[in-house]
Amino acid sequence: MTRTDPSAAQASSPSSPASPSSSFDSLPLPPPMLANLAQLGYVSMTPIQAASLPLALAGRDLIAQAKTGSGKTAAFTLPLLANLNPRRFAVQALVLCPTRELADQVTQEIRRLARAEDNIKTLTLCGGVPIRTQLASLAHGAHIVVGTPGRILDHLQRETLSLEALNTLVLDEADRMLDMGFAEDIAQVIKACPKTRQTLLFSATYPEGVAALAGRFMRDPKEVTLTERH
Ligand code: ADP
Ligand code: MG
Repeated sequence: MTRTDPSAAQASSPSSPASPSSSFDSLPLPPPMLANLAQLGYVSMTPIQAASLPLALAGRDLIAQAKTGSGKTAAFTLPLLANLNPRRFAVQALVLCPTRELADQVTQEIRRLARAEDNIKTLTLCGGVPIRTQLASLAHGAHIVVGTPGRILDHLQRETLSLEALNTLVLDEADRMLDMGFAEDIAQVIKACPKTRQTLLFSATYPEGVAALAGRFMRDPKEVTLTERH
């Protein structure tokens, strides 16, 4: 496992003047995506984005740790969109989240960031919603699925969701998912994913359980840690 020196990776915060390396323009992103980011008011990258996007867009597996509100959603959404073929109508990215509220927030953010591409469909699959409703949505298909581990596993077991075409797996708020007892469900979901894929793990903290999870399922991951300085 390799570790990125946070001080070397540190970029300016969004409120400070943008340094050249913290501009989204420095990333290998298509011009329509850069235009959309500008339109959304995303001028400079947050520190976690500046540290993780170059690695993730180069195809590396990533363990990224940064506090809540630091912009982790875009840090995994831009890479998963870069891996995605919009003309292939199959689930190519899966984002696992701890709760329905968080899954809904992630879905909203993905939809905003995916606006630059035509017709990318994102579907949310969480517990607490009737399975029947979700079956109808699944029948229409999606490129990206965002959901909670239990309900995703349920759909895999019913064979109402296939991950055969998946190329990006995201574990968002991995520490909270483990706290909520999702370790075994996550392990089972990962078993249903193709071995050749990019795995991006995001967490606010990095306890032993998260390290163990990463060790089991990731391929030579890069660690990016941004801790608060006092
Ligand atoms: P986290 O997942 O780390 O808690 P989010 O991804 O939810 O954080 O981002 C927090 C907020 O910051 C969101 O409203 C998001 O739209 C906004 N945001 C993220 N990145 C940028 C950026 N580079 N420039 C401006 N706003 C951003
Ligand atoms: Mg988040």
